[in-house]
Amino acid sequence: MPHSQFTDITQGITEIYHDLLDNRDGQVAQYIPSLASADPDKFAISICTADGQVFNIGDTDVPFSIQSTSKVFNLLMAYDELGPEEVHKRVGTEQSGGPFNDPVLSLDEDGVPRNPMINAGAIGTLAMVRSGERESARARALLEIWDAMTGRQRAGSDLETFLAEMETAEGNRKLTGRIAAKDKLMGGSGEVAVEDALRFYTTVCALELDSKRLAAAGATLANGGVAPFTEERVFSADATARALSLMAHCGMYDGSGKFAIEVGLPGKSGVSGNIMLVIPQLRMAMAVHSPRLDPAGNSVRGLEVCRRLVNQFNLHPYRQL
Ligand code: GLN
Repeated sequence: MPHSQFTDITQGITEIYHDLLDNRDGQVAQYIPSLASADPDKFAISICTADGQVFNIGDTDVPFSIQSTSKVFNLLMAYDELGPEEVHKRVGTEQSGGPFNDPVLSLDEDGVPRNPMINAGAIGTLAMVRSGERESARARALLEIWDAMTGRQRAGSDLETFLAEMETAEGNRKLTGRIAAKDKLMGGSGEVAVEDALRFYTTVCALELDSKRLAAAGATLANGGVAPFTEERVFSADATARALSLMAHCGMYDGSGKFAIEVGLPGKSGVSGNIMLVIPQLRMAMAVHSPRLDPAGNSVRGLEVCRRLVNQFNLHPYRQL
């Protein structure tokens, strides 16, 4: 990206950041203490371009568990390991029409999760990744992906969040059991045990990053699967395009349709209050962290940053026609 264009964008983001500092709408996720006790006023915006230019404003060093934003990367790993056809035998491509953990709407009548961006779908998708291998080897493979995307700034792990999520995982456990009951909890090497799938999924939700590293991961997607700092190919271009399409379609839970109308770009949110937005036409990504959520579970300030950025720089693909 030309430097002058990058500077324009960073100035726009600086204004948006200051404008939104006083926005205290929404509520921090309450279901576990480690999220409920997050400082609600934290606010970070990071951007990263495919050619490695970065800009950070606010609390961009503050770590958070990435939660559902990890779902995109689970999907990418599954695509590149098994191919999209196999993956979509066990996870769908349509919106669920419900919240990310809906006990009924998350699965179709054959036990197939509606899409990879909700809990049931992400559990099923991650179960496909290196199934049959030791958990530590699977973790290593996953961390290597994150290392490559972030320029080797290793992701941390939020132990308390992991343990608390496991203690309150009954809903996810039931969903996983229903997938398994229909023989759809399957990796390349065969059936996966419910508890194994659940634990690994929960481990990955508790990966700890900051907005800087999340923006670099997004920039990898904006770059067709090639990491911004190291120029390593992390994901195939085909898998990346598919994952971006699914993000654009169902990345914001039950707020995905509204997001598509207002922002029109692929985004993914997590309940810690993070949003990763990919801006394909600028080959750039943005990560926002602000813990207060709307009723669908999306960061209130995060959504507003996306909307304002898109309006200010005319980035909605269909508003340019
Ligand atoms: N760990 C959370 C769960 O499984 C992830 C949810 C999210 O970010 N929406 O419920």
